Amino acid sequence: MNVKISYQNTHFITSAPDIRHLPEDEGIEIAFAGRSNAGKSSSLNRLTNQKSLAKTSKTPGRTQLINLFKVADGCHIVDLPGYGFAQVPLEMKKKWQKSLGEYLQQRQCLKGLVVLMDIRHPMKDLDQQLIYWAVDSGIPVQVLLTKADKLKSGARKAQVLKIRESSLGFGGDVKVDAFSSLKGLGVDVLRKKLDEWFAPALEQLIAQEEELEASDNDEQGDAEQ
Ligand code: GDP
Repeated sequence: MNVKISYQNTHFITSAPDIRHLPEDEGIEIAFAGRSNAGKSSSLNRLTNQKSLAKTSKTPGRTQLINLFKVADGCHIVDLPGYGFAQVPLEMKKKWQKSLGEYLQQRQCLKGLVVLMDIRHPMKDLDQQLIYWAVDSGIPVQVLLTKADKLKSGARKAQVLKIRESSLGFGGDVKVDAFSSLKGLGVDVLRKKLDEWFAPALEQLIAQEEELEASDNDEQGDAEQ
């Protein structure tokens, strides 16, 4: 079934201080992750055509909250805190990495991971670690090489090909595309990917509605007899 979601209906649900405080593990969840300043908030705003759904970071590393958004019934986006900010104390970094690893490995409803990285500085250690964890847990990954408008077309294409090739080394379902919130580049690719990941939740919903309708019709039929 080809499901198309209207991402502009996305709305904020809640913030959680850590992964243990997220709502129940149900429906389908897609996580967005990236180093501070990679362009994650801008990409969420662009995806949903909303100016300030996700707060673009004025003070990187400050917001350690996990933000949860509802896209449609049973479909959620999880905006994970940016990582890799130099001024965050080591202890805090370690703690965060541990709970991030647990989330990626244990959260049953997590069905896709979008990893954002600046096209000019891709695949830092933590980016790779995250992708390894996801692949290890059988979670498909969409890498978005952000701020693609900063490179000329030729250099951009070469960079995408280079990262695609090196990503074969992860050995899992890892797709790589260029993205620019500023120019709207790659937004369609992202929407299509999310549609694909969210589809099972919507199909289930449609099936439930059809079942309900069928049983209503049965009852009506019985009453008419
Ligand atoms: P976050 O920390 O990952 O949420 O990153 P933000 O979305 O707050 O973006 C960090 C900085 O990069 C901001 O100054 C944005 O204006 C800038 N930025 C984000 N996306 C783009 C883009 O597509 N092109 C350009 N040129 N700058 C961008």
